[in-house]
Amino acid sequence: MSATHGAPATGAQVYAPAAQAAGGAGSGISQRLVAGLWRALLPSACALCGAVQSEVVCAACAEIALQPTPRCPRCASPGDVRGLGLACHACLACVDDDPLDATLTLGDYAGPLDTLVLRLKFGAALPLAEWIAARLADRLCAASDTIPDVLVPVPLSPQRLAARGFNQAWEIARPLSLRLDIRADATLLARRRDTVTQRTLDLPARRANLRDAFAVRHHERLDGLHIGLVDDVMTTGATLREAARVLKAHGASRVTALPALRTP
Ligand SMILES: [Zn+2]
Ligand SMILES: [Zn+2]
Repeated sequence: MSATHGAPATGAQVYAPAAQAAGGAGSGISQRLVAGLWRALLPSACALCGAVQSEVVCAACAEIALQPTPRCPRCASPGDVRGLGLACHACLACVDDDPLDATLTLGDYAGPLDTLVLRLKFGAALPLAEWIAARLADRLCAASDTIPDVLVPVPLSPQRLAARGFNQAWEIARPLSLRLDIRADATLLARRRDTVTQRTLDLPARRANLRDAFAVRHHERLDGLHIGLVDDVMTTGATLREAARVLKAHGASRVTALPALRTP
C-alpha cells in the first residue's frame, strides 16, 4: 500500500487546471475528443438496458433515469420540499450548525440508477464514473452560480482502499474537475481509521462512529475555499456532514456535497 490516502492506486492525486499540461483545460477537451472518437468507433452495451449503441448509458435510459425531481437545496432530500429554493424541515431544524451548505445529486439511490454505482463500486466499471461526472457537471452548471474552488473526494481508509484498489469517489471527482476546469485533490482529506459499516447504525451511533474519522492534510488552512465534496452515495448524510465539519474547522467557507446518488 503506497501512501495514497484516498487516491486511486494509479494516477495523479491532484488535478489542477494549470497542471493539465500545456493549454490547461485544452488537454481536458482533447481527452474528451479522443474518448468521443473511441465511443463512436466502438459499440457499447448500455449499463441499464443492455442495448448496443455508443454510450455507456443509452440516451433513452438517461432521459428516464435523470428526470429532475424537486429536492431540498441543502440536503437533496426528495421529500418535504417546501418550495423552490427552500430547505426542507429536517434541514431547517439544524440550519445554523449544518456544515453542508448545499447538496446536488443525480437522483435517488434506487432503480435504475443504483445499478451504475453498484457496478462502479463492486464491479470496477470505471467508465461509469466518467458518465456520472459528466451528468453531475451539467447539473452543477445548471443549478448553481458558484462552482467550487476545489473538489475533494470522501476518502476511504487505507485498508479499504487497498482492498478495493480504487476510491470510487475519486474516480468521479477526477473527470468532474476536468469538466469544470477546477482543481481536484485526493489527499486533502484523509480517513484516519476504518469505521464499521454505517448501514446498521442509527443516527447518533453513526455520528459517534465517525468521530475523528477524517483529518485535513498537515492541518492545512482552507480559508475562504468553497469545497465540492464528492461521494458515490449519500445515505443519512452523516459521513458527508462529518467530512464537511472537518473542512470548515480548517477554514473552508462553503461546502457543497456532490453525491452521485442519494438514498430517498
Ligand atoms: Zn439503455
Ligand atoms: Zn433538507
